[in-house]
Amino acid sequence: MSQTVKLLHDLIALPSINTAFLSKNNSLAGEERIIDYIIGRANKAKLDTEKQQTECGRSNLIIKLAPKGKIKHRIILGPHLDTVGVDNAAMLNPKKKGNKIYGRGACDTKGSVAVMLNSIEKLSKNRGRPSNTEIVFIGFVDEECNQTGSRAFQNLNMNADLALVGEPTRCKVVTAHKGDFWLKIQTKGKSAHGARPELGNNAAHLMAKCIDLIETKYASRLRKINHPILGSPTINTGIIKCGSQPNIVPDYCEADLDRRTLPRETFHTIKREIHELFKKNNLKANISNIKKFPCPAMETDHKTPWVQNFMRTVRQSKPIGVDYYCDAANIATTGIPTVVWGPGDIAQAHTVNEWITLTQIERGINILMRFLSSLP
Ligand SMILES: [Zn+2]
Repeated sequence: MSQTVKLLHDLIALPSINTAFLSKNNSLAGEERIIDYIIGRANKAKLDTEKQQTECGRSNLIIKLAPKGKIKHRIILGPHLDTVGVDNAAMLNPKKKGNKIYGRGACDTKGSVAVMLNSIEKLSKNRGRPSNTEIVFIGFVDEECNQTGSRAFQNLNMNADLALVGEPTRCKVVTAHKGDFWLKIQTKGKSAHGARPELGNNAAHLMAKCIDLIETKYASRLRKINHPILGSPTINTGIIKCGSQPNIVPDYCEADLDRRTLPRETFHTIKREIHELFKKNNLKANISNIKKFPCPAMETDHKTPWVQNFMRTVRQSKPIGVDYYCDAANIATTGIPTVVWGPGDIAQAHTVNEWITLTQIERGINILMRFLSSLP
């Protein structure tokens, strides 16, 4: 087993399930165990460590590798430390079978943590350490729920030439991801006895018309919009709640929808689009935004010099976009050119038998070592 694979093995064996998916006192919950382990390794490599308290009560872990000379540039390696939950405890025991390592977090995102952490450990020991570029590893907490960790990043007032946010991208450079809004639609009617529905006004029926319009006309309108690397925005009706008994005409109905966005779409523009459509069809409904935090889309100019350099190292000429939301947007909003990058395939993330190939881990560490050693 290579150093990086061994490290990944150790990281999987230390559960760091997001507390949102377990009770607070559950011994498997939280990132603390994995943070202690990483601090131990950083101390051995004589690297400075620091914790940053966040709103969820847990702390991001920051490790800095100083350059040989003065700091003139900075690069951030930012994977998240938490994972989703598990269906069976066996997933917390890393297992190597053939070319794969199985276990919770193997690809999302302990594979990235292993590659990014191991790269600074290696650089701390050899002459490849950059002359003037500081390398900062930030292990973020809470990505899988509220991204509290990466939201706290702006409080560090840290500038950088490039940030690599760790997610399984099969070691491809992802320069854009979609954003997300959760919309609540509410319709109002008038209640009446179920035997005399003509005396009431059915909020469920009104909602059915609204949802039908959204899932047909509005959705097909969205499919016609085409971002060069992100494709089309989407909408999905996830929850409808209404009524109390079959024999009462419901006077209220609500539905929660998931609207995935392209750069520059805002709640305001989306609300207006849907309102106008409702109005044209004589439908009345209230629309609100129920996401606790903004989740904007991210789009980094792939022609930015440091992004170009990294893409050259990866031997990738065209930028790539992904559908899912992640920590990257929260780093990008501070003005730092940010990309998503890491070993493993998102198709295996959150699955019951999550795995990553050793080939991806080796490819990841090779690319990152080559890139970091080439920095000024
Ligand atoms: Zn992830």
